[in-house]
Amino acid sequence: MTFEQLQLIDPIMKALAKENYTQPTPIQEQAIPPVLAGRDLFGCAQTGTGKTAAFLLPIIQLLSTQQSRPNGKRVIRSLILTPTRELAIQIADNAAAYGAFTHLRCGVIVGGVSQRAQEQLLEKGVDILIATPGRLIDLMNQGFVDLRHVQILVLDEADRMLDMGFIHDMKRIIAKLPVKRQTLFFSATMPPEITSLVQSLLNDPVKVEITPVSSTAERIKQQLYYVDKANKLQLLIDLLQDKSITSAIVFTRTKHGADRLVRGLTKANITAQAIHGDKSQNARQAALNNFKSGVTRLLVATDIAARGIDVEELSHVINYNLPNIPETYVHRIGRTGRAGLSGIAISFCEEEEIPYVKDIEKLTKQKIPVVADHPYPMTMTQPERAAIGASRASSAPAKDGNRGPRGEGGGRRRGRRPNPGK
Ligand code: AMP
Repeated sequence: MTFEQLQLIDPIMKALAKENYTQPTPIQEQAIPPVLAGRDLFGCAQTGTGKTAAFLLPIIQLLSTQQSRPNGKRVIRSLILTPTRELAIQIADNAAAYGAFTHLRCGVIVGGVSQRAQEQLLEKGVDILIATPGRLIDLMNQGFVDLRHVQILVLDEADRMLDMGFIHDMKRIIAKLPVKRQTLFFSATMPPEITSLVQSLLNDPVKVEITPVSSTAERIKQQLYYVDKANKLQLLIDLLQDKSITSAIVFTRTKHGADRLVRGLTKANITAQAIHGDKSQNARQAALNNFKSGVTRLLVATDIAARGIDVEELSHVINYNLPNIPETYVHRIGRTGRAGLSGIAISFCEEEEIPYVKDIEKLTKQKIPVVADHPYPMTMTQPERAAIGASRASSAPAKDGNRGPRGEGGGRRRGRRPNPGK
């Protein structure tokens, strides 16, 4: 299918040509026509599928063909809620690019930066508002936000918003919207809470499901290194001697772990920058820019911070810590091997993380190939590891893990294995 067949208007076609998008992705093919027709949509898709354009393109088309100032003032006609600052900024960048040849104005409201510029933005008026729930609620409480004219609501990464404890904020925001509206709902996973939210918010939605979360792209080469915790840094430094690792995201479980790792790598003269919720918005943006431009080769991130990082050509994903939620592993490694490129996902597994390997392999229905021949093999033998995997597969101890509903540990999901200590 082509973009022409989706009957997109000229200003959008021009923007897509500028972005070098030649063909719609499957989610775009399936989502754009019903959204243009005014239907509610439930999209089960993860980052990397092109879901952002799948909702932005029809929104831009629908809004740009209407009168923008019905009452003399520009009003918010579409509200896009998304869990993280990075994701919000990414969506706003995309909206600006796709809408560049229309008269629409979009704005972004996120926490972690001064509120003043956002007040001014709202006073001037925007057609499309992209926001994280916390800051939006703050501004709503202060009377800066008028949501009475919203026609299209997007809930992006709804599962992640629930994980981060935003459910009440989301409900309070939605209560201020007109009942008669179009709602587009995206979630990478389908826990029961999501199903009930979908039922309560969507009206006869079209369902679009792309790449089940358990599928790992075949072009991604996976490698698993069993290694004692104390040797992980040294093993990583060794592996990084390989110059084919040109750009990698290294995942750690905690923010402190990310900072500690960056310090260790810096000592070994390896440039790396951390990106997580404790960093200021400017520091995060600077780290991201350095990474995108190739100044830094490694970005060290927690899952939540990495959520909005949109980098096309990632040569490697490195799991310095394995995630306790197997779907997270699939999301993480899906960040490499994009755009038809091959990618490599390297995972380190320390003793505490052995049960996670079992969970991941169960979900993906694949064995992760083990690299046994490396300089820092785990002191525990393979049979001992197998015994741990079998006996603890469903009863890992809870020592730490969740640190507050909005903290970096907020990715924990009910009924899932808790994180072990840092
Ligand atoms: P998303 O899943 O929305 O995060 O998109 C993943 C990446 O794919 C982003 O970098 C988009 O700019 C890019 N993208 C989205 N749609 C297309 C398309 N039709 N052709 C090429 N790249 C695209």
